[in-house]
Amino acid sequence: MRKPIIVGNWKMNKGPEEAQKFYIELEKLMKNKTLDIEWAIAAPSISMVSLMAGDDKGLYIPLAAQNVHYEKSGAFTGELSLDMLMEYGLEYVIIGHSERRQYFNETDETVNLKIKATLNNSDITPIMAFGETEKEFDDKKTLSVVRKQINNGLKGINPNDAKEVVLAYEPIWAIGTGKTATPKQAQSVIKYSRSIVEEMFGKEVAQEIRIQYGGSMKPENIQELMKQPDIDGGLVGGASLDAKSFFKLLTYKK
Ligand code: PEP
Repeated sequence: MRKPIIVGNWKMNKGPEEAQKFYIELEKLMKNKTLDIEWAIAAPSISMVSLMAGDDKGLYIPLAAQNVHYEKSGAFTGELSLDMLMEYGLEYVIIGHSERRQYFNETDETVNLKIKATLNNSDITPIMAFGETEKEFDDKKTLSVVRKQINNGLKGINPNDAKEVVLAYEPIWAIGTGKTATPKQAQSVIKYSRSIVEEMFGKEVAQEIRIQYGGSMKPENIQELMKQPDIDGGLVGGASLDAKSFFKLLTYKK
């Protein structure tokens, strides 16, 4: 059984003060609640301290980085290394988000280097995002784009490591636009993605690897999306910024 995983991606939103308000609100909502899913928040690095429980008391929020560099250390202004993320206790890192591909020259090759570095040099779980643009969707190239991104992103990884990766299918036309892929559309691309994993790593890995959907996921549509047999969770932008809405996502009804 694959354990569902829901990750909020705050992108460049919420400084330390706003993050602290969110923490207080979410902590109240989560009182006496146990979740049987995995979850995390990918906050801006500078705000993460506000999401950490003081003195081991209070709500424990698993944290994710929004990016990482594949080198161990050195002259890479503005970047963070895996050692730094581990020292901070982060559990996940998002790699290859479409905004990083679009605005920061992230390519399948750098995504692959980052995934390999994360698997080889840390105990952090990489979440590899992939998905087609609106033009590619209109031109009916979704499946070939997805194939290429998965093939290149996971190239050279051994099957034991591959099953530790979380994949996140995020059609770019659905990110932050309010347009969600229909559950059927998302299911069909995610099922296809799983078949590519099977070609690369075999049946066992394909059955174990978790594949999230991302793109305007919200409390109103999570249930239908999560009913799909191949969808194992969500990577959520906008709807993770509000504590109540994020709480509803974490406690979606099966
Ligand atoms: C994202 O940032 O990965 C995302 C899916 O954003 P949104 O939920 O706002 O579409």
